[in-house]
Amino acid sequence: MTDIKLLKTTSRRLEILASMNITTLEDLIYQYPYRYEVIEEKYPTDEDEHLIIEATVISPVKIFFKGKMSRMSFEVEDKYLQHFQVSIFNRHFLRQHLKLGTTITIIGKCVNHRITASDIKIKPLQDISGIYPVYSLKEGITQKSFRQYVKKALSLLNHEFDDFIPEKYRIQHHLIRKESALYCIHFPENKKDVQEALKYLKYEEFLKFQLTMQLMKQQRTQEMGIAKDFDVTQLQSLILSLPFALTKDQQTAIKEIVEDLKSPQMMYRFLQGDVGSGKTVVSSVALYANYLAGYQGALMAPTEILATQHYQTLSRFFENTDVRIELLTGSLSLKEKERVYQAIQSGEADIVVGTHALFQKKVVYHNLGFVITDEQHRFGVMQRKALKNKGQQVDFLIMSATPIPRTLAISMYGDMDVSTIKTMPQGRLPVKTQYIHSSSMKPILKHLKSYLAQGGQCYVICPLVEDSENLEAKSASQIAKAMQKYFQTQYNVGLLHGQMKEDEKEKVMNSFLNNTIQILVSTTVVEVGVDVKNANMMVIYNAERFGMSQLHQLRGRIGRGQEQAYCYLMSSSSSKEAIERLKYLEKSHDGFEISLYDLKLRGPGEVLGQRQSGLPTFLVADIMKDFPILSIARKDADEIIHDYIQNHEYQGIVCKIQEKLQVNNEYVD
Ligand code: ADP
Ligand code: MG
Repeated sequence: MTDIKLLKTTSRRLEILASMNITTLEDLIYQYPYRYEVIEEKYPTDEDEHLIIEATVISPVKIFFKGKMSRMSFEVEDKYLQHFQVSIFNRHFLRQHLKLGTTITIIGKCVNHRITASDIKIKPLQDISGIYPVYSLKEGITQKSFRQYVKKALSLLNHEFDDFIPEKYRIQHHLIRKESALYCIHFPENKKDVQEALKYLKYEEFLKFQLTMQLMKQQRTQEMGIAKDFDVTQLQSLILSLPFALTKDQQTAIKEIVEDLKSPQMMYRFLQGDVGSGKTVVSSVALYANYLAGYQGALMAPTEILATQHYQTLSRFFENTDVRIELLTGSLSLKEKERVYQAIQSGEADIVVGTHALFQKKVVYHNLGFVITDEQHRFGVMQRKALKNKGQQVDFLIMSATPIPRTLAISMYGDMDVSTIKTMPQGRLPVKTQYIHSSSMKPILKHLKSYLAQGGQCYVICPLVEDSENLEAKSASQIAKAMQKYFQTQYNVGLLHGQMKEDEKEKVMNSFLNNTIQILVSTTVVEVGVDVKNANMMVIYNAERFGMSQLHQLRGRIGRGQEQAYCYLMSSSSSKEAIERLKYLEKSHDGFEISLYDLKLRGPGEVLGQRQSGLPTFLVADIMKDFPILSIARKDADEIIHDYIQNHEYQGIVCKIQEKLQVNNEYVD
């Protein structure tokens, strides 16, 4: 790292750079432009009134002042002898340069030979044409001075840009050199330069990422876990005692997980499947196998409601076994907590279900062997590690209800193994979904009333208002009040939102479960996992504000039994794109398809929750748009690691990545 002071600029500017996280010359160079401004001759067209032309001043300049504002106007002639009237605001200081006969370049908009200029250069077009980087900067540093800094940094660091990409692959993919790539990304001469630079930098980013993940996997498979030994016939008889037959995908997933448990290597597996595809059953069987081998298991859920529900599900699941289950959440009384801690430490508890309370310092496990987390995108990498570190060599399974195509999953979570449940249990009817152009319940009241009259229950999901939990809660409580008023004493309306205390939430949820409440008005706290079989209708307000995967997960709450379920997506938005998205959900019931569509529209960060999931962030590359490059980089990384192990090649680059991994590990632990 090279000290930025070498730039020899003022300390004020160094401060501004520091506030942009730029403290070394390298930082400066890796601050890529976010777009380019292209200056080349352009005449306006019917569709686009922008113009950049060279012209000669043919009239005296007139200036009008209004307070401190000024407007200057004059006439020009271009090379085709066309005349234009030019106006520009607040540039009266240019007047002295705009003498009759001067050749200038005008940038602006033009309608009917009248130009409103945004900029005027007192130079022929040829002198200024080109492509200019535009950086995202803070006040106090101009684009021009930033470009100069970058130029200086590049020349000061001149010979230190080793190609990270091995020669073989650089040539194979027709990539330019690193030094040229860095130069071209900042100072391209044309669009092709930018393309070439991006091609290099994207591939480099992906290759580093893939190598990192594969080395992590390498390290992990070398770490020995416990080879768990258990009686498979006992596992079989539990599976046979279930009230249904497992789907083929469930069987496959169980087989993969059981193999992992038996193997001396540590499990690090990602189990994905649509809501309702039966992941919980699979994880329960896995927990049983771990129990039979003599180890404790932990199941961690993102919310108390979910943890409680999982606890109930597992309790039913293990009803006829000797498995002892405990629930650990933040809202237990102190006394209860103490009892549960004790049970965990002594080994009386075989399986513990809970929230993040599971990995607080106080919790000491007797012999933790297996950790499962539900809905991984709500957990941070650190939290997962903290829980994992409670055991010596625990196996680790992550469940996700935002399924993504296998190739993408492997590329993004490449250091994990992936199990996928694609088929839904038999007899499941797809939720009848309908987009309704409305901001109120009116159009569906009739259906709602007849549905309630038949004894059903209904979810009403409330709008996400400007990302504010407060406002969201407020609108939910208003809707709940209005509905209660409408139904009087006929039906009970409950309210659930994130600002409520845990025990209040639980009370409401339980009332809904046992049908004391028929209509549950809720913000997205019900989003994942909650299972109320008698509720088969859902109304979602302002549906356009949700992501598609999220909507799909929401409607996964209903239609869990044999009954036909109905979901109404209400939106008063007139955005064509928004309506198209909602209509897509009327047709598609395949979580994979929907997440792919969603990923393309919004990118993986939004869909999968970048910050929490520890998904990589890339400077220039985009996982969806540049997916073909990612696939190639993955293949190449495979080859490189293979050649490294077999033939001791590529020591240099593998070392570089390992050093980085070392640093990161220390940081996390
Ligand atoms: P997920 O966790 O993937 O959302 P669950 O495991 O909660 O799904 O399963 C949803 C519902 O389907 C549960 O009520 C469960 O008992 C039931 N179920 C699971 N697997 C099957 C199956 N193979 N056949 C019939 N019903 C099943
Ligand atoms: Mg579940």
